[in-house]
Amino acid sequence: METLKLGWIGLGNMGNPMAKNLLKAGYEVAVFNRSRDKEKELIDLGATSAASTQDLMQTCDVLITMLSNDEAVKEVFESENGLLTRDNPGKLIINMSTVSPETSRYLTKICTARQVHFMDAPVSGSVKPAQDGTLVILVGSTDEDYLLAKPIFDVLGKVSIPVGEPGKASSAKLAINYLLGLNLQGLAETIMFAEKNGVRKEDMLSIINEGACGNGITNIKANSILNNSYPAAFALKHLVKDLRLAKEAGLDSPLINPLYDSYAAAQKEGLGDEDVMAIITSLRNK
Ligand code: NAP
Repeated sequence: METLKLGWIGLGNMGNPMAKNLLKAGYEVAVFNRSRDKEKELIDLGATSAASTQDLMQTCDVLITMLSNDEAVKEVFESENGLLTRDNPGKLIINMSTVSPETSRYLTKICTARQVHFMDAPVSGSVKPAQDGTLVILVGSTDEDYLLAKPIFDVLGKVSIPVGEPGKASSAKLAINYLLGLNLQGLAETIMFAEKNGVRKEDMLSIINEGACGNGITNIKANSILNNSYPAAFALKHLVKDLRLAKEAGLDSPLINPLYDSYAAAQKEGLGDEDVMAIITSLRNK
């Protein structure tokens, strides 16, 4: 059994099942969530609750953040009671939130100034893989830190893929989420085109998912399209953020601007907290 004590910050749609899996694997886990009520489920499973993120930093060996966006992550690292209020030689912080490569490089810098090791380890896969411990984990890190973190990643994911120094994994994450956005926009447009010509969505989904054009994500989203119900697994607002970050990081392909505009319009229409597949609702209303 691994003896590292873990501090987990951010118990949202992803953080909750991921932290649970670490508890189930036998890790000692202390948790902190901005809305404290969300900690209860984890405490019932054996986690302890920390008074502040700084408190977690003092008492844990490895700190893991799973937060909404760049602003949230920077706040948790830099605020008055945050992770980096004092030097902490040898501690490791793993940011698993999706943020820009620039933010990851900045976090590396401010952690180093506090003698803290930092790695970015964003994940590919949504709530179901988070629950099943089958995420794909992208890792930007030194070899030494990766070796320390790998047993944790083995609990959370089916594979962890080191892609280079801190910051690189955030670039890889923006790239895979561009493909996610293309997939779901394409799926929505395809279903609507078929329906317009009298083909039932049930039949079109079978044609897609039984054939070579089907993939993991078209399978996962089929039920929500069939039921016309989109409770957030991956909130649409998070994809808008990721596509914006990809643009800012230099993605200038022919499809990025129309793709971004489409999801951003859906968010403006009030669909930001729905699942990303709710893009089809926005397109149907056009
Ligand atoms: P979520 O359900 O919206 O949870 C966000 C978490 O961040 C909550 O714990 C929230 O606390 C916390 N938070 C937000 N702003 C904060 C602040 N200023 N200070 C402290 N805590 C703050 O998000 P999620 O779906 O778990 O996603 C988390 C990250 O993983 C995002 O970067 C997302 O892009 C990425 N991701 C998500 C998926 C997915 O399918 N959901 C898949 C891959 C990657 P409160 O509870 O207090 O609001």
